[in-house]
Amino acid sequence: MNVVVTGGAGFIGANLCRELVSRPSVGRVVALDDLSTGSAAHLAGTGAELVEGSILDRSLLDEVLTGADAVVHLAARPSVPRSLADPFASHEVNATGTVCVLEACRRRRIPVVAASSSSVYGSVAELPKHEGLPTRPLSPYAASKLATEAYALSYAAAFGLPTLVFRFFNVYGPLQSAGHAYAAVVPSFIDAALRGEPLTVHGDGHQTRDFTYVGTVARVLADAVQRKVTCDSPVNLAFGTRVSVLELAHHLAKALELAVEIRHVEPRRGDVRDSQADDGILRGLFTGLTAVPLEQGLAETVRWF
Ligand code: NAD
Repeated sequence: MNVVVTGGAGFIGANLCRELVSRPSVGRVVALDDLSTGSAAHLAGTGAELVEGSILDRSLLDEVLTGADAVVHLAARPSVPRSLADPFASHEVNATGTVCVLEACRRRRIPVVAASSSSVYGSVAELPKHEGLPTRPLSPYAASKLATEAYALSYAAAFGLPTLVFRFFNVYGPLQSAGHAYAAVVPSFIDAALRGEPLTVHGDGHQTRDFTYVGTVARVLADAVQRKVTCDSPVNLAFGTRVSVLELAHHLAKALELAVEIRHVEPRRGDVRDSQADDGILRGLFTGLTAVPLEQGLAETVRWF
């Protein structure tokens, strides 16, 4: 089976490419990535091929999809603050880019697994978040991911294209970049702690997140591709663990064996207050699934840094 991963040189994409090439039943693994936030180094020596280019380039997509049996669509501008700074750019890649990928797949009848985000739940306060809840995006990023999943599910309904849409929660682990304004909380905290700088917490730090180790995410995505799993609703890809940002800082200090200082700054616009997944649909589709626990995942992440 040959698999194309859009955004395959990014954090989740490169972890997925590594997982796919390690599976005997998978043949060619091709990452299509414009390297806007991803890196060719993530794939060096893995056996996955990198095609540098954009999902917005429809003729390139057609070329890359020749001979593909499955597509995992991860390419996106994946940041709330970046979407606030430039909503058009988020819309172009995350919404229009998704239509480009779906159209190319429809023409060749290639099943698609696509990445959405827990941010689509937005201001809905109910916990845990189950897929039947309404969606109330708080940022252009969240709106664009809602478009990603709506387009994917509409292609299943209108054209019978086999699709599966996952809502990722807070994914962390090796290859997640740090040291820039848009970095995610886990690598930002590790980077600051290793430099002996205070950890910057937006707001009071009691906001909660459902952290998911990237190795678990890669395993689920690869299983979904191999077993051709489809679902007519989005599927949360997280396990219902709820940890506050201050608790995360505590776990990381332990993993790093360092004392850390916290610096509180203004809450961030567009951030949700609490996040915790209902994993019922996920567990129904992937029976026997085990998730890497937070302490173990953080230890692996710290080792990689
Ligand atoms: P990432 O930035 O590491 O990966 C995104 C990749 O897409 C990058 O390699 C980037 O270069 C590539 N890309 C961007 N625009 C492109 C274009 N026009 N054409 C081709 N490639 C392009 O981020 P990630 O965390 O690995 O995110 C992967 C997916 O998961 C995204 O769709 C994101 O919205 C979603 N997601 C991630 C998280 C998380 O916690 N990391 C949470 C929810 C959803």
